[in-house]
Amino acid sequence: MESQIDYHTARALLEWQVELGVTDAIGDAPINRYDLPDRLRAKARQAAIPVAEAPPGPVVARQVDPVAVASAAASAARTLEELREAMAAFEHCELKKGARNLVFSDGTPGAPVMIIGEAPGREEDREGRPFVGRAGQLLDRMLAAIGMSRQENVHITNVLPWRPPQNREPRPDEIAMLKPFLDRHVALADPKVIVLMGNISCQAVLGKRGITRLRGHWVQALDKPVLPMFHPAYLLRHPAAKREAWADLLALQAKLR
Ligand code: URA
Repeated sequence: MESQIDYHTARALLEWQVELGVTDAIGDAPINRYDLPDRLRAKARQAAIPVAEAPPGPVVARQVDPVAVASAAASAARTLEELREAMAAFEHCELKKGARNLVFSDGTPGAPVMIIGEAPGREEDREGRPFVGRAGQLLDRMLAAIGMSRQENVHITNVLPWRPPQNREPRPDEIAMLKPFLDRHVALADPKVIVLMGNISCQAVLGKRGITRLRGHWVQALDKPVLPMFHPAYLLRHPAAKREAWADLLALQAKLR
């Protein structure tokens, strides 16, 4: 069928859909799934229930606890590479379906400093590495200002390894189901100190938000000294806050001496 729209418009529409998380092109006409005939609905339900594994008696959909599955998978990982594989095999987080890549970590495993950010953005999702976009470039300059770099003495990860659609804020249930992987990541990387970038990592690790109050104060969490800081993306939007960020970088440098 000859299309009514030109190449560039079609491409822009397609890119917009990819941005929203669409992964499959199925057909020209939209389908109202709520209108599926009963026959198909029953089939879909059957497919969703692993009948062979179900106990005898009435068929009941098994409830899977994603946090328990993540905890078991994370604690079975004995190395960072095994942890990466366990996360790649984890199928209970919807974000995975919309993401291009698992963004696990970057920098130097075993480094004295571990930075925990929020979640991958568009560039990170494309490259499969954390903090490679504008915020990441600022982060690199901040580290360089105190003589540090990911190539030498910094290990970087995020609370979530998959990009949330349109960079929306991670939901509490997503943070909870991926937290066991983060905890194990810290245990295996075993840094001397942790830096939490922004509210989401504070929520995940400290169980509270309020970065303006929390930043600059060392606390103990995950068995490590932890320093909350403003997120570099926040610093890009509020350059005046770089003054506080500089004070926090100096506090980090002093702690490592
Ligand atoms: N912001 C984050 O918190 N993490 C990234 O990897 C990129 C941007």
